[in-house]
Amino acid sequence: MKTPSTLREELASGRRTFSFEFFPPKTEVGERRFWDSVRRVEALAPTFVSVTYGAGGSSRERTVSMTEAIVADTTLRAVAHLTAVGHSVAELRQIIGQYAGAGIRDVLVLRGDPPGDPRARWIAHPQGFTYAAELVAMVKEIGDFSVGVAAYPELHPRSSDVDSDTRYFVDKCRAGADYAVTQMFFDVTHYLRLRDRVEAAGCTTPIIPEIMPATDFKQIRRFAELSDASFPPELARALEHAEPADAYRIGVDHATAMAERLLAEGAPGLHYITLNKSDAALDIHRRVLGGTVRRAA
Ligand code: FAD
Repeated sequence: MKTPSTLREELASGRRTFSFEFFPPKTEVGERRFWDSVRRVEALAPTFVSVTYGAGGSSRERTVSMTEAIVADTTLRAVAHLTAVGHSVAELRQIIGQYAGAGIRDVLVLRGDPPGDPRARWIAHPQGFTYAAELVAMVKEIGDFSVGVAAYPELHPRSSDVDSDTRYFVDKCRAGADYAVTQMFFDVTHYLRLRDRVEAAGCTTPIIPEIMPATDFKQIRRFAELSDASFPPELARALEHAEPADAYRIGVDHATAMAERLLAEGAPGLHYITLNKSDAALDIHRRVLGGTVRRAA
């Protein structure tokens, strides 16, 4: 069978996706680590990799150049992240044009957060957009892109209630989103509830769960606070005083169990956060491949 050319087609084929997320490196050492991780992931032939969109100028340029380099220099499909923060509509159109020029047809469209303090008041660019749904509509109007959006198992931190969170998520899908990727979460129940409430609202857009290996207690606590993801107390207790090697094992075990249950519950794929160090994500994925996925094949 011909390899589907976009993630939208890949998901429509019914094959489960697996993918890895990186961030744009800031230093030469960071860049070496980035490429080392990308190459190790490439050996597993994932469905796609993505590079997060930076909060400001040079970091954003690195996102675009790293995503282009992945497409040019590897065998990987790249999903390009793009946020509306600080950009006019004309600038957003220009970046989409640049991605298209590099052969990229998959874009993960986000509103983004205020630079510096993600909790600060959101102020739209005077010639820009206020919500991700507007950017989805623009990208779809420009061309035949496969578009992803963000979903929040424990609600977006700015959402006042479940109903509005669900309604605005469904709006993004109706604006043309082909799939969604979730925020991190550490209890599968949160994902299942999100999927149920979105389906109950009449929306069947596939929602790919994000897997964040909880191998470093301090780091994970900071991330969880920033994203409002709740952290199971028993996992926190196990990690808090663990030696690094034990913490790694605990985090990988927990994420593997989550990944296997998510696939058993019918999740369309798994999206691993790597933080540019792919060891934990690869260990989890190899274990998943050795278990549920192979048995189901
Ligand atoms: P939106 O969908 O616009 O929602 C933002 C808030 O507004 C929500 O509370 C929503 O319910 C509400 N809302 C939506 N529409 C309306 C409306 N019409 N009226 C009133 N309220 C409304 N950030 C980055 O900077 N770079 C990245 O690369 C990046 N990658 C991410 C990848 C994933 C998988 C996820 C889950 C998040 C990522 N983020 C990234 C973070 C994201 O930018 C933030 O979470 C941001 O605060 C919200 O983006 P959004 O696209 O979900 O916004």
